Amino acid sequence: MIDTKILPSLYSSDVGQWPSTFQTLQRNNTEQLHLDVMDGHFVPDMAFGPSLVENLRADTDFYLDVHLMTDQPECLVERFLKAGADGITFHIESTSQALDIIKKIRSYGKDAGVALTPATSVANLEPVLNIVDSVLVMTNNPGTSDQNFWAPALDKIQDLAHRRQANNYKYRIEVDGNITADNIIDCYDAGADWFVSGDYIFAESQGQDDRLQELSELVGSNE
Ligand code: ZN
Repeated sequence: MIDTKILPSLYSSDVGQWPSTFQTLQRNNTEQLHLDVMDGHFVPDMAFGPSLVENLRADTDFYLDVHLMTDQPECLVERFLKAGADGITFHIESTSQALDIIKKIRSYGKDAGVALTPATSVANLEPVLNIVDSVLVMTNNPGTSDQNFWAPALDKIQDLAHRRQANNYKYRIEVDGNITADNIIDCYDAGADWFVSGDYIFAESQGQDDRLQELSELVGSNE
């Protein structure tokens, strides 16, 4: 049984408020922080380099969950490992070197994850499902302003949960993209374990504690 966790996405938090954001997260027993890395190619936006991970590693105790939304993750992964990432997820669509990347992450004793955009089928992951620590299912198109929850992602989560059970695989299932109180239960019921939420938690400065608690209670994390 994998513990359910809420992972706040730092990209959605106002950078000027980070010190108080970290206090809010710690106050609510948040152990994981999700960091979206964007390169301006794989996704249009740009965000977060290894130096941020290094600073967070030095200043906080969060499990640093790095999500590489980049082309050629093989060129970046070691820098994020050396910076102190605890887990690194890369997109299966972005590389032809998935096995080497997974081995590299594992050589540092860290968690290796693969991610799927909405247009990619779970079957594309079959060759690596027995060796990854996590699979991340995007529930919207990464790095776009599309704010809708893409419901067919629930079928992918169910498919991954079924394959995990049928084959005794060990990966956790992570969902990322517009997770709110309205859809988190559907993701949980489909079989997801970790829930990345950004705008829902951070869009307004007031009530962040309440929304963190709400999401945690809905999926029984922090118990
Ligand atoms: Zn992400």
